[in-house]
Amino acid sequence: KEAERYVVVTGANKGIGLGIVRQLAKEGITVVLTARDASRGNVALESLKSQGLHNVNFHPLDVASQESILALAEWLHKTYGGIDILINNAGIANTDEDITFETVKPVLDTNYFGVKNVTKALLPLLRDDTPGGARVIVVAAIIGQLKHLENKDYVKTLSDREHITEDFVDSFVNHYLKDVVDGSQKEGGWPNWSNTPFGRPVESYAVSKVAVIAYISALHNTLVAQPGSGKKINVFSCCPGWVATDLNNNRGTKTVEEGADTPVWLALHSPEEGIGKFWTERKVVDF
Ligand code: NDP
Repeated sequence: KEAERYVVVTGANKGIGLGIVRQLAKEGITVVLTARDASRGNVALESLKSQGLHNVNFHPLDVASQESILALAEWLHKTYGGIDILINNAGIANTDEDITFETVKPVLDTNYFGVKNVTKALLPLLRDDTPGGARVIVVAAIIGQLKHLENKDYVKTLSDREHITEDFVDSFVNHYLKDVVDGSQKEGGWPNWSNTPFGRPVESYAVSKVAVIAYISALHNTLVAQPGSGKKINVFSCCPGWVATDLNNNRGTKTVEEGADTPVWLALHSPEEGIGKFWTERKVVDF
């Protein structure tokens, strides 16, 4: 009999995250559906149970709170001992009409620092006996491709995938936040997303997605440099496509089930040739 497998999905009470949970639960994997709001999370859990999916559990997780992250890690350790797959899906896209530190900080805290802090806290829980290796997947976005950055120094450094470090990605994000405080994003060459398919400017969202794609490469580099840990952990970033959800006021053209396809496929197949890279439509694409 195959060993039971466990996956944690963040921001899973609705949208693409809920689609990911549904598809993985249908594969017979035990899924931990997490959400920052317990009542919204439990409503989602009940809806899955009413569809006959009983291999799903709920635990609260606010990815922007270190206390909440540590509480989840402790619960996972006590309940399952370890996990096989982590899918960082939670994300927000503020309106950036008024770009100030206060308006952009929550976007970076959720979409970048949240991903990083959840991943760091759960890495020790990833099992060393997952067939094909344990996995960490980040739902990023095509809007985070480097071609949208005007700062050529960053484009050059971040294109050199094998040498990106976690500290460098932090400094990239902190530089953006400093430029916002100084009102100098234009001079800094940050993506000017005033005319996006969102129908509103999403500059901080684009920066956060550049950062998580870079973070996945940096994390892969860190993991490769520490082969002595004895664990194989495969990391991937991906774009779900343009999906109709609350994030874009349902302007997207794909369904949630279609959007969940690439993250779920990466979770199930963990393709060796694409570890550390950025994926969409089940294919590696340029960062
Ligand atoms: P939704 O707005 O439908 O879902 C976002 C989810 O993230 C919600 O469950 C939300 O919870 C949760 N969330 C937000 N902040 C936090 C937090 N601090 N802690 C935990 N959960 C949080 O959007 P999508 O399903 O579209 O987005 C999912 C991911 O896909 C995001 O990372 C997004 O950037 C990415 N993406 C989406 C695209 C699209 O076309 N829709 C395109 C490219 C990428 P709550 O209900 O409490 O707000």
